Amino acid sequence: MSRVFNFSAGPGALPEAVLKQAQADLMDWQGSGVSVMEMSHRGKAFMSIAAEAEADLRELMVIPDNYKVLFLQGGATTQFAAIPMNLLRGKKQADYFNTGQWSKKAIKEAKQYCDVNIVACSEADNFSTIPPVSEWKLNPDAAYVHYTANETIGGVEFDHIPDTGDVPLVVDLSSTILSRPIDVSKFALIYGGAQKNIGPAGLAIVIVREDLLGDVIDGTPGMLNYQVQADSDSMFNTPPTFSWYMAGLVFKWVKAQGGLAAMAEINQRKAAKLYAAIEASGFYKNPVALAYRSWMNVPFTLPSEDLDKAFLAGAAEAKLDSLKGHRSVGGMRASIYNAVPESAVDALISYMNQFAQANK
Ligand SMILES: *Cc1c(COP(=O)(O)O)cnc(C)c1O
Repeated sequence: MSRVFNFSAGPGALPEAVLKQAQADLMDWQGSGVSVMEMSHRGKAFMSIAAEAEADLRELMVIPDNYKVLFLQGGATTQFAAIPMNLLRGKKQADYFNTGQWSKKAIKEAKQYCDVNIVACSEADNFSTIPPVSEWKLNPDAAYVHYTANETIGGVEFDHIPDTGDVPLVVDLSSTILSRPIDVSKFALIYGGAQKNIGPAGLAIVIVREDLLGDVIDGTPGMLNYQVQADSDSMFNTPPTFSWYMAGLVFKWVKAQGGLAAMAEINQRKAAKLYAAIEASGFYKNPVALAYRSWMNVPFTLPSEDLDKAFLAGAAEAKLDSLKGHRSVGGMRASIYNAVPESAVDALISYMNQFAQANK
């Protein structure tokens, strides 16, 4: 058996070293005689796994002490509802940026709980850019401002953290979390599904400033109440223990790579060489405005859709996997998360050049 170069958008690639560690631990975690999946979440062994994962994430992201770190179920999508439930805090309006498919989903969900003001929208540009700051319409009475740092489908990302003054800032960081350092203190809440850069699907990470907790809308389920989850150390019910453990292994792996500054350097280099190859090809095209091109998700099209099938077939032969683009964008998409090694990007570029030469 040999593994492929995995460009899946999510669930995405995991570091090989992490998979091997999980494999070694599978039958008998550290002499406990059971696997992590088979132990009580309230037992000493799992409590130590959980605490260590949180400590490592805090260290990696330099999370200030006045923030809670929650390991929750239901992915990022569940947070689309939980965020208004927890952060409206008596207000009736919230601000949302609409920069792509994930923004739209977050907005749709939030509309069930509050009036959504769209700060800026790039739909008229087919979500290929981030609207300029001069066009933003921030509402000073909004309970919070929500944005999607990186649109995983469109491959478009903010080039800076929006300045929202005193209005709490909320970010969906699903597909860029741990890809580079980020100043956590600028945010009221950071959240993300795990399956892009952290671990197996189903788990979501929520990092929330403590002073915002405790004032939820009527009818908020305990599962979605951040105060309740914080008070029970994310164990209001049985948490997704195996995903939590896997996330912990990934955090240790990121630390071993040199932390987020080192990840940023590698990620920037990977993205830069792939975009450069696309630009230089005179064959492939990326639709996104230069300043907002994603480091993590690189969509590109071929000169004609008729070539897509042949491109994918050749890619499969070269062990380049999961390159088919999202149906809303078409063409190809290479997701080059933390766990996708630079050698995979090199292999992709080499295949792309070959294919372009043969089909020009
Ligand atoms: C994948 C993704 C989501 C959805 O995550 P789920 O865990 O499937 O709910 C939300 N936002 C962004 C930016 C994503 O990339």
